[in-house]
Amino acid sequence: MSSTTPDLDLAAIRQDFPLLADRPDGTRAIYLDSAATSQRPRAVIDAEVDFLRTANAAVHRGAHTLAAEATEFFEDARATVAGFVGADPDQLVWTSGATAGLNLVAYAIGNATAGRGLPASARFALQPGDELVVTETEHHANLLPWQELAARTGAVLRHIAVHDDGTLDLESAASVIGPRTRVVAFPHVSNVLGIVNPVVALVEMARDAEALTVLDACQSAPHLPLDLPTLDVDLAVFSGHKMLGPYAIGGLYGRADVLADLPPFLVGGSMITRVGLGESEYLPPPQRFEAGTQPVSQAIGLAAAVRYLDGIGMGAVHAHEVRLERRMREGLRSLPGIRLLGDAEGADRVALCAFEVEGVHAHDAGQFLDARGISVRVGHHCAQPLHRRFGMTATVRASAAVYNTDDEIDELLNAVSGIRGFFG
Ligand code: PLP
Repeated sequence: MSSTTPDLDLAAIRQDFPLLADRPDGTRAIYLDSAATSQRPRAVIDAEVDFLRTANAAVHRGAHTLAAEATEFFEDARATVAGFVGADPDQLVWTSGATAGLNLVAYAIGNATAGRGLPASARFALQPGDELVVTETEHHANLLPWQELAARTGAVLRHIAVHDDGTLDLESAASVIGPRTRVVAFPHVSNVLGIVNPVVALVEMARDAEALTVLDACQSAPHLPLDLPTLDVDLAVFSGHKMLGPYAIGGLYGRADVLADLPPFLVGGSMITRVGLGESEYLPPPQRFEAGTQPVSQAIGLAAAVRYLDGIGMGAVHAHEVRLERRMREGLRSLPGIRLLGDAEGADRVALCAFEVEGVHAHDAGQFLDARGISVRVGHHCAQPLHRRFGMTATVRASAAVYNTDDEIDELLNAVSGIRGFFG
C-alpha cells in the first residue's frame, strides 16, 4: 500500500474500517463514493451500539439516573461536535442531516414573527421583492428550500454564475448581491466540482449588503480543518454520514446572536419553557430548534467520528486527500476522451473529480467500473442546474476520503482508461 503523506498511518486507518477489509475471496472494495456517503470506522459503530446497550434513555426528560446519564452523553456529544467546527455547544443544533438543516433555516426565516419568548425582531421577515441569492453550483438541498421560501413570501431568487473552469464568478456575485439581498447561501465545496469556494470574499459582499450568510459545509467538514466562527458565516450545515458518522444526524451551526433571533421551524415537545392552551413560550437555542425526540445515538456516533478525525488531525487528513486528488486529476487529464468538469488550474480542492467519458453514458461507465470492484457515483449528483450549465445530464464522480490509497486511485485510472475501448 503506497502512501507518502507524512503523519498518516494509512495501513492502520484502513484496519479501522470493517467494510474496507480484504474479503475471504481475496477481493476488496475500492470505495470512491465518499461524497455520497462515507464508510464508518469501528469506533463510530461501537459508540452507537455501546450507548444503546448501556446508557439508552430519553434525554432531557426523565428524572431517573439512566436518563441523566443519557443526557450527559448527548450533551457531551454536542460539545465535541461543536468543538470540531470551532463553535460553542450552544451554537450547534442537531438535525437529521444537511437537507433538514437548510429546510429548518429557510422555514424559520419564513416564520419570522415576534412573541412566544422570541425577540421582537423583524430581522428575518421577508417582503415581496426581497432577494435570496444562491449559486449555480448548488446541491438541490441548498436550492429547493430557497425556491420554496421565495414562493411563500414573494422574494426573488437570484444566482451567482460559475466560470467555465468551475470557479465562482465573483463579478457575477458582486452584481447579484445588492441592497435587496436578504440571504446569500452557498457551498463551501461543490459536491460536483470539488473546488473550495472563496468564503471570505462572499461573506464580505453579503455583510456589505447586510444579508444573512448560509454555508453548506457538507463537502468540506470531512476533508479540511473547519473553523466556522473564523469564516464568519451566520449559519452553516454539515452532514454526519459524509464525515464517517452515522446516518440521520447533522449539525446546524449559527452565530449566537443569529440563533437567538431565529424563530423555530418545528414546534412541539422539548423546545418550550411554558405551554398554554392558547399560547406558549420557547426555549433559547439550541433547544428551540430541537422539537421532539432527537437522534441521540447518532449524535454520540457523530461525536466518535469527529474524535476519530481529530485523532488523525484534520491537517493530515487534508494533506493526504490533496495528494490523492492531484494523482486522480492528473491521471484523468492524461487519458484521451475524458472531460473533467470544472478543471480550473491551481484551485484549492477536495479529492473529488466529476467527468464524462467521450461517447459513453455515465451509467455505462459506472457499471464498467463496478464490474471491476470500483464504486463511484453516476448521474447528476443532485446538481441538475450545474450539469445543465456545462451542457451535460450526467457525469461519473469519483470521490476519496481519508482511507483511500494511491493504489486505489491507480486502479481507478487504469479501469477508466479501458472504458472507451470496451464500449467503442
Ligand atoms: N449539500 C451537499 C453539497 C451535499 O453533497 C449533500 C449530500 O449529497 C447535501 C447537501 C445533503 O446532505 P444530507 O444527506 O445530509 O441531507
